Amino acid sequence: MPEDLRSTLARRVVIADGAMGTMLQGYDLTMADFDQLEGCNEVLNRTRPDVVRAIHDAYFEVGVDAVETNTFGTNLSALGEYGISEQIFDLAERAARIARESADAYSTVDRSRWVLGSVGPGTKLPTLGHVAYGQLRDAYQTQVEGMLAGGIDAVLIETSQDLLQTKAATLGAKRALAHAGRDLPVIVHVTVETTGTMLLGSEIGAALTALEPLGIDLIGLNCATGPAEMSEHLRHLSRYAQIGVSCMPNAGLPQLTADGVMMIGDTAGMLNGERLKGIHTAIKAGMLAAETILDCLVKNDFSRNALGVFDKKLKESYVGRELYKARNFHQAFDRGRMFGLMTEGISILTGGRFPSKLPIKAGHEHMQKLRADGGKDPYVDLRYDGQLTFDKLTDVYYSGTHHNEDQPAHLKVLDFNICVGRCVEEFGNPCQNFCPANVYEMVDGGESKRRLQINFSNCVHCKTCDIMDPYQIIDWVPPEGGGGPNYRNM
Ligand SMILES: Cc1cc2nc3c(=O)[nH]c(=O)nc-3n(C[C@H](O)[C@H](O)[C@H](O)COP(=O)(O)OP(=O)(O)OC[C@H]3O[C@@H](n4cnc5c(N)ncnc54)[C@H](O)[C@@H]3O)c2cc1C
Ligand code: SF4
Repeated sequence: MPEDLRSTLARRVVIADGAMGTMLQGYDLTMADFDQLEGCNEVLNRTRPDVVRAIHDAYFEVGVDAVETNTFGTNLSALGEYGISEQIFDLAERAARIARESADAYSTVDRSRWVLGSVGPGTKLPTLGHVAYGQLRDAYQTQVEGMLAGGIDAVLIETSQDLLQTKAATLGAKRALAHAGRDLPVIVHVTVETTGTMLLGSEIGAALTALEPLGIDLIGLNCATGPAEMSEHLRHLSRYAQIGVSCMPNAGLPQLTADGVMMIGDTAGMLNGERLKGIHTAIKAGMLAAETILDCLVKNDFSRNALGVFDKKLKESYVGRELYKARNFHQAFDRGRMFGLMTEGISILTGGRFPSKLPIKAGHEHMQKLRADGGKDPYVDLRYDGQLTFDKLTDVYYSGTHHNEDQPAHLKVLDFNICVGRCVEEFGNPCQNFCPANVYEMVDGGESKRRLQINFSNCVHCKTCDIMDPYQIIDWVPPEGGGGPNYRNM
């Protein structure tokens, strides 16, 4: 006799799975897998159901009771950013079907396994006027209708940051259930930031007061900070909620330490891109790391737990506050100057609390292929006056760059065939342009083929090539003998 999720929840703790996104990153997925929609995990429900299924199977294999559908972003704004919001129902249904098949395969006569239909918040919040409440609620209804058609056992509204958005999702889910004549559990998780409130300032008590009367089955927390910071808010819920409490303590903040490892400065991305300043953050991180290491030396304990004090100290220091404010700078300007200016303005006014973390694109994904019409070379009219603007080799001279000529090149190109083949046709060997030091040159290689010549001793260590090469086949490694630029001539 299959167990009913609601009655099981009343009897015992039900264990759900872990993250989907990080599991997906473990697969070598291509742009074709993403249907050319980089980062849109939800299209994988259509293009790579085998991968999504394998992740659900892996979680059931280690013994979880329930898995979440791959539908966190199957909503109006997240799919809207990719121009595919009309696919909400289809992608939600496919995701639920994949999870259902996995759950059924792992269910036994003695033990049921369940599917939780994940409803993420999306990127637009009604309280801030980004989207009309009714439009948002109806889109959530479509999503839940799709998941019901695919066979979910419960709706899990999660990572909720705005109470109005949470209401839209809850009422959209309730409408979908009523429409389908179903009565499934509805679980709502809010996210409390390091500031102690939800993104838009609501405290946990306010969330409970606003959400409990909507007829939900469980209220709880997920994301943002991790178990330690969640415990106080969870205690509040368990004391005052009339309904069940749930928790998914999946911390959303990066870790700077592991057993025997600490990351500081630029290694850990501590450059404030908004101000183009990183020396003060590197120095402060170094000081806090040194303090932590001293304590670890005294205790002779270099485990992640002991070193992890550094994470906390850094996040509470001015470095944490400053970088939190600037976390969306690049992503915002990626979407255009007006969007960038507006987003940065809001970010400064809200101390970085809004917008929540925007998805980021790797540098090389900005490279555009050559136009089919062979468009005009943008560099053809470039001229230097020799007073304020200089050609690249003169710049290299002024940078005082020096490397021993007899060392192996510190710029490793992993596949030269791509340079003389695909890259010529698709991108026109952009390394010749983006390298500020004329390191890369396509030269006549004799016979009919050209070849890539690497003038590594010119390299001014800007690392542009490692970042921007569209095929990610250039690997920058430190040169021998401490060579590099020496800017005394500037
Ligand atoms: C052009 C430019 C201008 C900038 N202007 C400013 C500014 O005005 N103000 C400001 O605050 N910040 C500025 N920054 C940012 C700032 O320089 C960096 O954020 C800061 O230096 C980072 O410090 P760090 O110690 O983490 O790394 P780094 O200063 O990069 O130090 C890392 C060191 O490790 C060495 N190294 C790397 N790999 C190895 C290896 N395998 N073995 C041994 N050694 C290795 C490197 O040679 C380097 O010496 C600027 C950056 C650039 C590129
Ligand atoms: S690191 Fe900068 S200067 Fe050196 S080869 Fe790459 S692009 Fe050129």
